[in-house]
Amino acid sequence: MIDRGYYSGFGGAFLPEILVATFEELERVFRQAKGDPDFWREYADIMSTYSCRPTPLTYAENLTRHFGGARIFIKREDLNHTGAHKANNVMGQGLLVKRMGKTRVIAETGAGQHGVATATMAAKFGFRCTIYMGEVDVERQRPNVFWMQRLGAEVVPVREGTRILKDAINEAFRDWVSNMDTTHYVLGTACGPHPYPEMVSYFQSIIGKEAREQILKREGKLPSRVYACVGGGSNAMGIFSGFFEDPVELVGVEAGGKGLDSGRHASRLCSTDASVGVAQGYKTYFLQNGDGQMLETHSVAAGLDYVGVSPILAHFKENGRVRFEAATDQEVVDALALTMRMEGVIPALESSHAFAQAFKEAATLSRDDVVIINQSGRGDKDIFTIADAFEDPTWQDFIMKKAERYHA
Ligand SMILES: *Cc1c(COP(=O)(O)O)cnc(C)c1O
Repeated sequence: MIDRGYYSGFGGAFLPEILVATFEELERVFRQAKGDPDFWREYADIMSTYSCRPTPLTYAENLTRHFGGARIFIKREDLNHTGAHKANNVMGQGLLVKRMGKTRVIAETGAGQHGVATATMAAKFGFRCTIYMGEVDVERQRPNVFWMQRLGAEVVPVREGTRILKDAINEAFRDWVSNMDTTHYVLGTACGPHPYPEMVSYFQSIIGKEAREQILKREGKLPSRVYACVGGGSNAMGIFSGFFEDPVELVGVEAGGKGLDSGRHASRLCSTDASVGVAQGYKTYFLQNGDGQMLETHSVAAGLDYVGVSPILAHFKENGRVRFEAATDQEVVDALALTMRMEGVIPALESSHAFAQAFKEAATLSRDDVVIINQSGRGDKDIFTIADAFEDPTWQDFIMKKAERYHA
């Protein structure tokens, strides 16, 4: 499948000459680590003592009864340190940084969750840390900016371009070019130039390894379907990788936003608004117009709001191994409300896309079927966004009163 980071022609590494040696070093250190059983043991050990691995597989008894079809299980990535699967990737890359002998990490972040995870890892390992963030996102994601700074990271607001994620990515690359000797760029998802898609998927594969063992132990059989939301594609690659060789249907769920016909969504693999192109150092489906200008994306879930998608998932779209669907903002908010009330777990808005799609299909399956939903993160940290999504008037009142107190 892999020919120097190409997956059915997607992927690759389109780099400025000056970064080629750095990428070769990264690939070499990653290959050594991947081939070394002690490295995986060290990784699994730190994830079990610093994060919460193995994360549980929860039987959703009430949702199962409610839909009257497949038995529904939830893989609990929300119980990781910092509240999402992102910890799996940043801690793994942190161990590689130590192997390379570098002392500084940089990252870009949109919603801020990857920035918080990276700042956490840097604090733990004693690295200096700079996080690039579009100025617009700095305004929108104040609580995450607060945590990054408290964790010791320098947060740099990017004032170029449209002042959002893609501009932050450009700034991070610019920093890297001037500081390659000391600095590693911690990419947050299974995108970007080779070897990042493979490397991030490798660290996230711990989700699928655990889930496969857990479901076999508990149910004595494989699931019929596995659902995961798809932003850049890392949590989906993580859980799917446990089941690629099995007769299991894999379902990736994108952000349908206001609907696929509305022009306000972030669906690259289900909508006709995306086409194949090269940007940010790799080839995949991008939401772009005929001139290769990136389109504006929209989702109720900030973490799914991205123009590109993992080249490995683009490959699985092409060969049909993964089925891709989209859930709208409204379906997602409804699925989140139901899950909270019936199971007492609070999925992130991103994860709720996977729940929404599983709920559409659960009743069409039989009681002998088992499905797993990947709960990529927890929603309670997103109280501002979720309260907004629910348009809760008492919450709005609370925020107004708080603001008045500061003005007084
Ligand atoms: C960042 C994030 C995502 C999207 O990223 P992927 O790389 O597609 O997994 C999904 N869920 C949560 C909770 C996130 O924080």
